[in-house]
Amino acid sequence: MAGMPPEVDVAVIGAGAAGIAAARRLVEADRVSVVVLEARERAGGRVWVVYSSAGPLDLGAEWLHSADRNVLAREAQRLGFSVNRRRPDWTTRLSRSGETRDAEEDWIREREAHYWAVHRAAQGPDDPPASSVLVPGGRWNALFDATSTWANAVELDCLSVKDNDRYEDSGVNWRVREGYGRLLTALAGGVPIAFGAAASRIEHGGRRIRVITPQGTLSAARLIVTVPSAAIAGGRLAFDPPLPDKEAAAAGLPLGLANKLFLGFDGAVAGAGDELFLIGSTRRRETMSYQVRPLGRPRINCFFGGRFADQLERDGIEAMTAFAVDELAGLFGSEIRARLKPLAASAWRSDPFALGSYSYALPGHADDRARLAEPVDGRLFFAGEACSPNFFSTAHGAYETGLKTADAVLASLA
Ligand SMILES: Cc1cc2nc3c(=O)[nH]c(=O)nc-3n(C[C@H](O)[C@H](O)[C@H](O)COP(=O)(O)OP(=O)(O)OC[C@H]3O[C@@H](n4cnc5c(N)ncnc54)[C@H](O)[C@@H]3O)c2cc1C
Repeated sequence: MAGMPPEVDVAVIGAGAAGIAAARRLVEADRVSVVVLEARERAGGRVWVVYSSAGPLDLGAEWLHSADRNVLAREAQRLGFSVNRRRPDWTTRLSRSGETRDAEEDWIREREAHYWAVHRAAQGPDDPPASSVLVPGGRWNALFDATSTWANAVELDCLSVKDNDRYEDSGVNWRVREGYGRLLTALAGGVPIAFGAAASRIEHGGRRIRVITPQGTLSAARLIVTVPSAAIAGGRLAFDPPLPDKEAAAAGLPLGLANKLFLGFDGAVAGAGDELFLIGSTRRRETMSYQVRPLGRPRINCFFGGRFADQLERDGIEAMTAFAVDELAGLFGSEIRARLKPLAASAWRSDPFALGSYSYALPGHADDRARLAEPVDGRLFFAGEACSPNFFSTAHGAYETGLKTADAVLASLA
């Protein structure tokens, strides 16, 4: 926690994964003065844990994706967090969700074929939507869309094949038992953060950069902007003089929506062991994925994305709960209804400092990530998940961009 000083060498806007990484590296370099301006009263941004009787609830990021290559997995272990390395059983969830083993094998084959079809399409001169490679009338088309809303927070018709192909998934996914949000809070310790300092305008025409906030104006020699792409595209953070190329790049990388609902569930279900992964429906695009008793805890995590999530967020937690309870009753029988109680739900679209969940590239806009990450005049820098070339949409991708940008800032000051 820090007050906002009138001037610093380097200011960072946003104390999410990217901003924390950048500030840590700058503080460690021990040769520049630094402050992070954070609009909220907490650090972590889209990595946020709250606590409940059923354990920590990660309302945002939960998984250390590509964990064998994940800088935050290394940090978690270095800091003594309890990292659960058991791989989630996502592959065989169809046969647990009402499909036959044959159908599940067919899905696994088709999913592999779809992956390669996207890859081939991405090698061409154009950048069509990922839906263009679907087999017309294909048996699993609704499920391809539903899984895209979980992985990419958007349906395939809005998704660039080139961008999708650039994402590097090693297939190794771990979790932090204490909650991913706790890890980010720990990493933010020792970083000077001014909370409640929402930047509204950046004046970069003069000798020094001026950042306008409700706590006053801050003057800096260098600035790192880590706000979500939607805040730049929508003009919530304005630049003076304007940066139309930057705004256009950010507009090519909108934030999709993925939300979570947590239901308390103090019971056992057949075949659940201490954890079970399921899908509400393999035939509808509007469906949820479920973690029953995640890490053995007495609850069910419900995850849903895309246009369906936008509608449910507008309708509220009661509508989310009613939908999930109906799907779970379809999977387990009606007796389960009385044993489910809503604990919490996220609403990332209406969060004014997130404006959505994670970025995707529109068809034709895969190169906007590099354009967004490009510095302006060697002193105005950009980081955040939307700037990552290969780990976009993730917390570790955001963190990596923060480290890299801080190095570039230090080099520019050398
Ligand atoms: C539901 C959900 C599930 C997810 N699951 C995973 C997962 O399992 N694994 C994974 O790796 N990733 C996951 N993600 C994505 C991951 O959380 C994000 O990609 C990552 O946290 C983004 O970090 P960032 O630093 O780029 O942005 P942010 O975390 O958004 O940080 C930006 C910061 O800037 C602040 N800010 C905004 N505007 C201003 C302003 N004007 N002035 C000052 N401050 C401002 C914000 O408050 C925020 O703290 C998930 C996200 C969601 C929402």
